[in-house]
Amino acid sequence: MKTIGLIGGMSWESTSSYYQYINQEVKTQLGGLHSAQIVLVSVDFAQIEQFQRNDEWDQAAQVLADAAKKLEKAGADFFAIATNTMHKVASQVEQAVSIPLVHIADATGEALVEKNIERVGLLGTAFTMEQPFYKQRIEKNFGMEVIVPNGVQRRLVHDVIYQELCLGVVSKRSTADFETIIDDMREVGAQGVILGCTEIGMLVDQNSSSIPIFDTTKIHAKALVKLALS
Ligand code: GLU
Repeated sequence: MKTIGLIGGMSWESTSSYYQYINQEVKTQLGGLHSAQIVLVSVDFAQIEQFQRNDEWDQAAQVLADAAKKLEKAGADFFAIATNTMHKVASQVEQAVSIPLVHIADATGEALVEKNIERVGLLGTAFTMEQPFYKQRIEKNFGMEVIVPNGVQRRLVHDVIYQELCLGVVSKRSTADFETIIDDMREVGAQGVILGCTEIGMLVDQNSSSIPIFDTTKIHAKALVKLALS
């Protein structure tokens, strides 16, 4: 089994989900007492969030590049960045090490193609929904259209992520709001919805969605295990 390197802490709420999903998948695949070989470097999200807010992406990239170097030194065979948003600086982080990065948008794109999705809704932070680094990668590499909610809804989704989910707060009201937003995207032709923020799975599951959900945390974790066991 290969050793998975994980850059976590963005937020730690979703990193704990990654840890569970990765180990559950290894158990499903290998059974018995098997568990994943993981090296984790967990950063301080308060610092990362401040860099994001101040548009200091190079500084944020430096923190993640240092984390990736630690993973490589500790014996990781490959690594993942356990957040969608910070893939904005994925290429800078990738360049700092010689071990490969498992990109969250690529794992997600493959899962969408498997289900023949041609038009998909995207929920995530404002950075992920509004900037090209994520949407374009899926559209270009996997040949589908990615749509996002309207401006007011995007603001709501973004605020719920930072003011609730990353703090471990899961509210019925926000679940209902997300359900409405997913319904609205279905009305304009979304055949599925990407939970493109690693905490959204805390709030929304398949029961609360009128269209298939693609939970990037679960998809990414599964892709990591597949590579670890290959
Ligand atoms: N975990 C979130 C994501 O997947 C948001 C936190 C962050 O900004 O990294 O985008």
